Amino acid sequence: MSNKFKSILATSRPALIAGPCAAESREQLVNTAEALAGIQGLMAFRAGLWKPRTRPGDFEGVGEKGLAWLQEVKERFGLRLAVEIAFPAHAEACLKAGIDIMWIGARSVVSPFVVDDIARALKGSEACVMVKNPLNPDLSLWAGGIERLMKNGITSLAAVHRGFDLYYSKPFRNVPLWEIPIELKNNFPELPVFCDPSHIGGQRKYLLQISQKAFDLGMDGLMIEAHIDPQHALTDVAQQVSPRELKEIMSGLKIRKQQNKADAALEKYRTSIDELDDQLLEILSKRMQIAEWIGKLKKEQDLAPYQPDRWAAVLDDRIKKGGSLSLSKDFVMKVFNLIHMESLDRQE
Ligand code: PEP
Ligand code: MN
Repeated sequence: MSNKFKSILATSRPALIAGPCAAESREQLVNTAEALAGIQGLMAFRAGLWKPRTRPGDFEGVGEKGLAWLQEVKERFGLRLAVEIAFPAHAEACLKAGIDIMWIGARSVVSPFVVDDIARALKGSEACVMVKNPLNPDLSLWAGGIERLMKNGITSLAAVHRGFDLYYSKPFRNVPLWEIPIELKNNFPELPVFCDPSHIGGQRKYLLQISQKAFDLGMDGLMIEAHIDPQHALTDVAQQVSPRELKEIMSGLKIRKQQNKADAALEKYRTSIDELDDQLLEILSKRMQIAEWIGKLKKEQDLAPYQPDRWAAVLDDRIKKGGSLSLSKDFVMKVFNLIHMESLDRQE
C-alpha cells in the first residue's frame, strides 16, 4: 500500500496543518475552521482532544465529545481532520469517527510500549499516522516509533519535528537541533517530514523564521497552532496565532526550489567545503591523539584529567582568536566545549 501523505502533499503547497492546540468548544472549532478554510495549502485541520499537560489540574481537553464537533468541521468546510492519540482507546475512537490523520505526541513516542500498543490498535486500518519526535533528542527512538508502526502494516506515515525539551533552549521553547530531522530524512528518504514551529518557538514571533528555516532545509510541510481567539486559549496561549496572523506568516514564506542539480559555482564552493571538512577531521583526529598522550602522562603523575585553570585559559584564548577571525563567542565555546569533553573522555 502506498503512503497517502504523498498524494496529499502533491496537491497542498505549501503544505499546512493548522488548528487550535486544543478543542475547547464547538463554537471555537467551527469558527476557527471557517476562518482557516481558504488558506492555500491547508491539508488538514488539527485539534487536540486529549491534552497531555505537565501538571494535573490544567485543562486536559474535552475528550471524545470533541469528535462530533470535528465531524461537523469536516462536513461544513471539507477539511481533513488531525488529532493526537496517546492510547489504543483514542486510536479506536478516532478510527470510528473518521479522523483522517492521527499523530503520536512527543510524550508518547518516548515509550516503546505506548507506541506498540497504538500500532496494534491501528493494525489493519488505513490510518494516516504522524510521529512527533520524542521529547529527548534521540534519533533512534524517533526512528523506532516509525518502525513499530511500519511493522504493524501502517504505510501512510509522516514525521513531525517539534524540537527537543532540553534544559537550555533559549530563545525558543524547544531546541530545534535541525541535524536530527535531517538525519531522520537521510534514514527514511521516502518519509515526509513536517515541522511544528509552534512547539519549537513557543511564541508567535518566532513562527515565520522557524517555518522558513524548515522549508529551506527541505521539510515537506508545517503544523501550526491557530485559534480564533488566541489571547484566551486554554492551552499554549503564547504560541497560538489568529487565522489572520497565520495567513500573514504563510504569505511571508519563500518557498525556494529544492536543488537537484547544482550549478558550477555552487559545486565549486561545495568542493572547497568538502576539502576543508577533510582537513578539520584530520586535525581533530591528531588533537585527540595528543590528548590521549597527555592523559597517559597525567595518569603517571596522578593528576585529574580535568584541570580547570588550564581549561579556562585555553577557552579564553580560543574565544579571543576566534573573535579576530569573525567567529562568535557562542560558536567557539560550543565547538571547544565539545572537543574538550571528547578529550576528557579519552583521558579516562
Ligand atoms: C500538540 O501538538 O498540541 C502537542 C501536545 O505537541 P507535542 O506532543 O509536540 O508537545
Ligand atoms: Mn500545543
